[in-house]
Amino acid sequence: MSLFSAVEMAPRDPILGLNEQYAADTNPQKVNLGVGVYFDDNGKLPLLKCVQAAEKAMMEEPKARGYLPIDGIAAYDSAVKGLVFGADSEVVQSGRVATVQAIGGTGGLKIGADFLKKISPNAKVLISNPSWENHRAIFQNAGFEVGTYSYYDAATRSINFDGMLADLNAAAAGTIVVLHACCHNPTGYDITAEQWEQVIAVVKAKGLVAFLDMAYQGFGHGIAEDGAVIGKFVAAGLNIFVSTSFSKSFSLYGERVGALSVVANDKEEAARVLSQLKIVIRTNYSNPPTHGGAVVAAVLNNPELRALWEEELAGMRVRIKEMRQKLVDGLKAAGVQQDMSFITTQIGMFSYSGLSKEQMIRLRSEFGVYGTDTGRMCVAALNSKNIDHVCKAIAAVI
Ligand code: PLP
Repeated sequence: MSLFSAVEMAPRDPILGLNEQYAADTNPQKVNLGVGVYFDDNGKLPLLKCVQAAEKAMMEEPKARGYLPIDGIAAYDSAVKGLVFGADSEVVQSGRVATVQAIGGTGGLKIGADFLKKISPNAKVLISNPSWENHRAIFQNAGFEVGTYSYYDAATRSINFDGMLADLNAAAAGTIVVLHACCHNPTGYDITAEQWEQVIAVVKAKGLVAFLDMAYQGFGHGIAEDGAVIGKFVAAGLNIFVSTSFSKSFSLYGERVGALSVVANDKEEAARVLSQLKIVIRTNYSNPPTHGGAVVAAVLNNPELRALWEEELAGMRVRIKEMRQKLVDGLKAAGVQQDMSFITTQIGMFSYSGLSKEQMIRLRSEFGVYGTDTGRMCVAALNSKNIDHVCKAIAAVI
């Protein structure tokens, strides 16, 4: 008899399982469109020049690695505030945003979830249907009941916005609504600026709590453009949560750099919120790691490096858009009759292809093209060398 006799085997993470299957595949033409990672046109994970320059400068003046403050590097937190809200914005200037460095965007979500559980223990959480699967798991593990609001309509290959609004309207006051600030994962469909206004109006009228997950700022239409939605929530006078991830936008996946920002009513309230966020952090992992945060702070706070980052991020964004167009054109050329132009109206790293589970399995087994069973494909992993094979493979299973 062991302490662990009754411990059940947890289900495998579907994406990581897909990665293992991909690694074991001997097909020389295999393509991994499963995981949400940006690869360059050579199929390589980029190491951004701005990151290399910041690291080089750091190496030239090596620093000892003391503990960071619980809420992270001050210059990092202020750079995050600038990026998310605008450095000159009223919320930042008045000191009513509490920002903490977090272990990736996931860490930002988790700190926010744990803090919310303390202040609103009976609230329910709504995530989009479908959503990034970890949203459900993070909030459930923080002790919340998690439901969904309508989002994607497979029949029309678009957003069921009426359904979304109706579900938000029907939610009880205090319900925490997790919203994708831009580049919705997994569908690739974002609501319009006008629809955001309607969502904000419902959030305000019903007393809901908006938790905006911004894992892809800069991958949609631009850094400021993607961040604009945050400003709209702030302008509506709402207390919001925003999680930030630099995993994709800095190609710093393994450094685990992210943040959580909470908008309070005034400076004094923000200080109280910050003190509670620090307790959540302190009792989980004490304080964040140094390197990734230092790199991002160095880039964002140096005008030259920041300009270089913006250029490199734009390069990633533009390349993804080109790949979307090539995919649409290539599918047509490969004989696909149905209109696939919806792929170019989607935004960010993913495309909900509309393919069935059976078709996705055939793509894997017959062509070595790996996407998720839900039909999600990471278009940021397409390149000029693999696009023809992917188009032919999809054409063959459609
Ligand atoms: N939120 C969404 C919607 C994501 O897609 C991801 C990553 O895939 C994250 C959060 C987590 O980001 P990070 O890797 O920085 O924890």
